Amino acid sequence: RGKRAFIAGVADDQGFGWAIAKALAAAGAEILVGTWVPALNIFESSLRRGKFDESRQLSNGGLFEIAKVYPLDAVFDTPEDVPEDIKNNKRYAGSSGWTVQECAESVKADFGCIDILVHSLANGPEVTKPLMETTRKGYLAAISASTYSYVSLLKYFAPIMNPGGSSLSLTYLASEQIIPGYGGGMSSAKAALESDTRVLAFEVGRKYGIRVNTISAGPLRSRAAKAIGFIDDMINYSTANAPLQKELEAGDVGYTAAFLSSPLASAVTGSLIYVDNGVHAMGLAV
Ligand code: NAD
Repeated sequence: RGKRAFIAGVADDQGFGWAIAKALAAAGAEILVGTWVPALNIFESSLRRGKFDESRQLSNGGLFEIAKVYPLDAVFDTPEDVPEDIKNNKRYAGSSGWTVQECAESVKADFGCIDILVHSLANGPEVTKPLMETTRKGYLAAISASTYSYVSLLKYFAPIMNPGGSSLSLTYLASEQIIPGYGGGMSSAKAALESDTRVLAFEVGRKYGIRVNTISAGPLRSRAAKAIGFIDDMINYSTANAPLQKELEAGDVGYTAAFLSSPLASAVTGSLIYVDNGVHAMGLAV
């Protein structure tokens, strides 16, 4: 049997989640995705109308297929956690079963089990504010959507993952070096995500035999990154200063994710892998 992957955080064909899903599909995996509820309608209708057909082309001539799209809001673990205003919000009312627990239950009911879990989502409502100007609410929201969401996904999906399975997330260098502009507590959220990668590798490694890694990705002009506001500067900085002076492609991260998700990486867990043309290693820009 081929492997089955669930990728949380795909809502268009521009981000890392799409590229990872596509690379896993090219390697023979069956693909399920979790799409943020407010983005679900537009994503599904764009898929249906063929808007992504060009980026669905695989190098073997085939077309990348998504077996099922699940609505997901990873800031809510169970139905009891959903406040009234969200329940009654018209962008949410049209879908159901989108808390993390319910999403895992739906995947189990439809497919039984998965082998690969990918967390490719983040949200920091105050990301454009420096840390000193970030409110407690904004900071906690960044941690909730960008970090605890991963703990929650693993908590509910690990029990339906086959032993030998693999899980990974996406992080960013701002966790360990000062990147002015990556604010709102997002740098803190990524630092926590990287620390959690180690602790979770231990906990789910021992209990379920699953590996846990994170990819520290270089800058990509995704929808989320454009919302931060300085993505073009980051890309230009990297192209000018990284050991490899080329622009990062989403596929670069996709292929590393496919490697990490495969038996080729069967002894790799608790690791942070840089896929950033080496920019993390520079001390003095020249
Ligand atoms: P993206 O916009 O393609 O992906 C982010 C996704 O998260 C979106 O699909 C969004 O709908 C989803 N999302 C937000 N809140 C959610 C929630 N509560 N529940 C479910 N889904 C939710 O952008 P991306 O840049 O590809 O981001 C993917 C990951 O890569 C993120 O963790 C991001 O921090 C990380 N990353 C990005 C860059 C970059 O330069 N783009 C660099 C390093 C790391």
